Amino acid sequence: MSLNTTFERVALPLDHPFTISRETTKTAENVVVRIDDGEHTGIGAAAPSQYYGETPDTVEAVLPDLLSIVEQADDPLNRNAIEREIAARVGDNPAAKAAISIALCDLVGKRLDLPLYRLFGFDPDRTITSSFTVGLDATDVMAEKARTAVADGYSVLKTKLGTDRDEEIVAAVRDAAPEARIRVDANEAWTPREAVEMSEMLADHDIEFLEQPLPATNPEGLRFVHERSAVPIALDESCVTLTDVPRVADRADIIVIKLMKCAGPLEAIKMINAARAHGLDVMLGCMVETNAAIAAACHLTPLVDYADLDGSLLLADDPYDGIPMPGGVIDLSTVERPGTGAE
Ligand SMILES: [Mg+2]
Repeated sequence: MSLNTTFERVALPLDHPFTISRETTKTAENVVVRIDDGEHTGIGAAAPSQYYGETPDTVEAVLPDLLSIVEQADDPLNRNAIEREIAARVGDNPAAKAAISIALCDLVGKRLDLPLYRLFGFDPDRTITSSFTVGLDATDVMAEKARTAVADGYSVLKTKLGTDRDEEIVAAVRDAAPEARIRVDANEAWTPREAVEMSEMLADHDIEFLEQPLPATNPEGLRFVHERSAVPIALDESCVTLTDVPRVADRADIIVIKLMKCAGPLEAIKMINAARAHGLDVMLGCMVETNAAIAAACHLTPLVDYADLDGSLLLADDPYDGIPMPGGVIDLSTVERPGTGAE
């Protein structure tokens, strides 16, 4: 039985421009991949990140070659063999590879009529609450967004930092959401000494953890901060693929895994296991991306400690429905649709 594949670029305008320390996004461009066996269609998507060397153009350029491997595969259930061949064909390009890996997982789930978490055997009673992200903006606007998110039912917030008024932002957001669990992400904006100083302020405001205070290119600085920080340290930009896990293990408490960094669900599971072996906690995150991709990550949440899977919530309109997360709560026990559940 042969598989047919197609892909298309989709423009996803955001509800509001989304700003972090190094960039502002107004429209995200994802590339949706479909793999069809004549009876079922598996759907996945790439949310390429320029930071990790990918754009919609690079994804579209590499997909025909990678999808030809899928089309020549005789058994879509043998995902390990297909992914091994894809990995051998080209290096890097993790979002393009993730789109294929997600679509294959979705196809297999649909063929076997099982949601992905059931296929993997994960415990649906381990529910988790995703954070809602407050991007950088004027301080009062950020406080208002936090207030609105709490009114909408979100109990966990993630606040972006990396400005010259970070202290003011943290105080304003904490004031606007006194009961919320709040974590912050500096996206590499600080120096080691700044990060240690800021960590005291974050602890005073009962901030849960600090994500990527320094550039990933400063591993020694990250060790310095980790040894002295008053709050736990999560590393995102510093921890991209499986081989990064042992490298960051002595300078982080939490690693941030994203399907678009590591090339898909199967690789993400390996990273989670590696993190556990090193005594690390795990957060599953995402890019600004469609549910066609995020839905797959939702099925892995029983394995992790924290989730930051609100990428689709930032979109003005997502053409795909995914796993419902009212107030950020991801409860897989209510999910019956086979595959990833994106449609
Ligand atoms: Mg981050």
